[in-house]
Amino acid sequence: MPSPADATEPLPDVVADVLSRWWGFDRLRPLQAEAIAAALAGRDSLVVMPTGGGKSLCYQLPPLVGDTTDVVISPLVALMKDQVDALEAIGYPAAALHGGMSQEERAGVRDRLAAGEVRLLFAAPERLVNSGLLDLLARVGVKRFAVDEAHCISHWGHDFRPEYRQLAMIRERFPSASLHAFTATATPRVRDDIVRQLNLRDPVTLVGTFDRPNLVYRVVPRTDRIAQTLAILGRHKGEASIVYCISRKETERLAERLAAEGLLAKPYHAGLTATERHRTQEAFTRETIDVVVATVAFGMGIDRSDVRLVLHTSLPKSLEAYQQETGRAGRDSLAAECVLLYSSADVFSWESLVRKSAAESELDPEEQEEVIASGLEHLHAMRRYAQAARCRHAALSEYFGQPYPGNACGACDVCLGETGSLPDATVTAQKIISCVARVQERFGVRHVCEVLRGAKTDAIQRYRHDQLSTYGLLAAFDQRTAENLVHQLLDQELLARTAGDRPVVVLNDRSWEVLRGAREVVLLEPRATKAKPSKADADDWQGVDRDLFERLRRWRRRVAESRGKPAWTILDDKALRAVARERPDSPAALLRCKGIGEKRLADFGGDILDIVTGGRGE
Ligand code: ADP
Ligand code: ZN
Repeated sequence: MPSPADATEPLPDVVADVLSRWWGFDRLRPLQAEAIAAALAGRDSLVVMPTGGGKSLCYQLPPLVGDTTDVVISPLVALMKDQVDALEAIGYPAAALHGGMSQEERAGVRDRLAAGEVRLLFAAPERLVNSGLLDLLARVGVKRFAVDEAHCISHWGHDFRPEYRQLAMIRERFPSASLHAFTATATPRVRDDIVRQLNLRDPVTLVGTFDRPNLVYRVVPRTDRIAQTLAILGRHKGEASIVYCISRKETERLAERLAAEGLLAKPYHAGLTATERHRTQEAFTRETIDVVVATVAFGMGIDRSDVRLVLHTSLPKSLEAYQQETGRAGRDSLAAECVLLYSSADVFSWESLVRKSAAESELDPEEQEEVIASGLEHLHAMRRYAQAARCRHAALSEYFGQPYPGNACGACDVCLGETGSLPDATVTAQKIISCVARVQERFGVRHVCEVLRGAKTDAIQRYRHDQLSTYGLLAAFDQRTAENLVHQLLDQELLARTAGDRPVVVLNDRSWEVLRGAREVVLLEPRATKAKPSKADADDWQGVDRDLFERLRRWRRRVAESRGKPAWTILDDKALRAVARERPDSPAALLRCKGIGEKRLADFGGDILDIVTGGRGE
């Protein structure tokens, strides 16, 4: 079993030095200090930290201390490139090797490696194992390997990648090197699997806090995807937002609609060409568009530290995925909002997708069963989260194995008192259930609701459903709202639905209890939320000269554009707000602003001071 951290030795002074010189940070977060101590001591480690927790620094800092060459395995090219960009912006010698590079580019990186010029090499797993690269790394004397997104090695995780399995060979090839696994997935089964698969030796295990206090979580019953999306985006004009959808088609349709409303929005999914994706990604990071509409399966490459809204228009397939995707909000630790539009219709789509993708995989039948069981387990945890009317921060923390202190976070729809319940829910439920009985449990959600609303469709006329006593009982609701109510009943298992391509709604024992009046029903009122501002949001703007902040942002956009780099790698929002709050009037004062290190002072100090003092910089 992994032992708890025993890295109590104080870190050498040089660490604090490196941290402020290169990054402009004044201190390490507690877990970072321990992870860095383990790395410097050459001790294996397993670091579990939520997205935004600061994992990257744990493997970026150590090679600067002893001028070593370290290797990071990362699953996604886009993430690698962003990190290399961000590191280059502070003058850090980093490089990447992946399939998307030309022969020459790869040769160039190999030369720099051989010359000992690279401190950190990012490599895709298949690159690492399928090439003469290993020999080169051995010659350079690599002593530390970090495996990012290490849960990808386990099929108990939510994002299994078979190519990660080959990483087991690192231990054999480099017996004296230390291995450091990083993940945001916290279930014990996945952790144990990582330790076993990577063959970690008595690793220091460090588990971070999963709660993200700067995020406000909301779950809203989905009634009208587009209208609700527009209303929510309306709270974030001119701010970076990510909107997640389930299918490629939806991302395109929605992005088009948003663009028609005058929003700077683009779709992003695996069906686009690499060039198209790249263009959108860059437009987003350089702040020339505000909104990216992405598929949940493919949002990982889009990264910007000042994302103020993450909106899920469909259900993610697991809380791990949700945590990771919402983790892209507010990475600068300033207040941000995460909204989930929920309909249980998505649960059914995911269930069939989980089965289908397992069946189409190359796994053997027994493994397929395991992958399906694991997929459904993850899905149902997600559904329980969406349905429960309890504090979202508490629910998320507890899922990731951490009790949540207190009982009112002040930063979720439940604690802010935004969730309303439908008056007369039991009577409404009885009307719906008896209609399902009257149509003889042979129709789907849509038809049942059309009958309840008193619609005049061909099917209703053909089956004479306008003669039923339940016809028109819910005429006061529109179709979407009625369907949402039926889905809420399905979620609470007060109604059931058959499997297959054309599911029909049927009764179960609990439906009869409701009809007999033996069971009270609570339904959420499906309405657009009146979002209340959270305390965190007000705090983050405390004392900030907004006008100055916007001027600094415009300057940053121009610098990003001319350098062809993501804007946040130039300077993130937190640093900009610090400047707009402190209004420094000298290089020394500027250096005291969080996020400004020596390299940035040298690169941009003059410009920034000009803007602050109202001079030419702009
Ligand atoms: P992760 O990889 O865990 O998702 P990152 O490494 O991207 O998270 O870090 C998240 C944010 O926190 C980044 O904006 C980073 O600059 C900032 N950060 C990390 N460590 C520190 C620190 N010690 N002090 C201040 N900011 C930090
Ligand atoms: Zn709460």
